[in-house]
Amino acid sequence: MTNKAHIMVVEDEEPLAMLLRYNLEAEGYLVETIGRGDEAEIRLKEAVPDLLVLDWMLPGISGIELCRRLRLRGETERLPVVMLTARGEESERVRGLATGADDYVVKPFSVPELMARIKALLRRSRPELISTVLRAGDIVLDRETHRVSRGGRDLQLGPTEFRLLEFFMQTPGRVYSREQLLDGVWGRDVYVDERTIDVHVGRLRKVLNRGRRVDPIRTVRGAGYAFDERFAAKQAVR
Ligand code: CA
Repeated sequence: MTNKAHIMVVEDEEPLAMLLRYNLEAEGYLVETIGRGDEAEIRLKEAVPDLLVLDWMLPGISGIELCRRLRLRGETERLPVVMLTARGEESERVRGLATGADDYVVKPFSVPELMARIKALLRRSRPELISTVLRAGDIVLDRETHRVSRGGRDLQLGPTEFRLLEFFMQTPGRVYSREQLLDGVWGRDVYVDERTIDVHVGRLRKVLNRGRRVDPIRTVRGAGYAFDERFAAKQAVR
């Protein structure tokens, strides 16, 4: 599912990497672990995650050097980085931040503490992936309670229509092909006919637009569907 934050962990201590993977996955993140600095650098040129957890001492190139290089590249200059440092490296820690890490934790650290730091960074950089409540125009979607309202009136959506709306509301303006919607909403492993998407978009529209003139979902001919960014930007009328 593309609506989960993707976190890359670069850590050469296998048990720690596994512990982090386990805990991050339990928080609902997509996790990739890499044990070498040079391998991480190659991987980051192929795909940029939403956040990087980076150990200081690594084989290949050090975390500090990797972080410095990432800041020089446009694709990764703003990538949130949490550095893991060893105890007693006070001056080096300062250097870590100077090199461009957004935050750091000192080993041995408490896992909940690291999780809180990660969440805080993501809240700043990718709020749409973290926040419980999504708002677009007069539509409010609550991920925890699964309630959706428009103009203050509760709407009854089926589970698929709910996920579809959530997916759209995360990236207003972006046009998704039917295939991308399949991957993002149904998942890659599920076999669903592309026409099924049209059926669910139709159902979603019916509930969303009952008694209203403005349709927030755009059909883009030959391309797919998008959530109208101008609709999303309008302040909700209360
Ligand atoms: Ca290390």
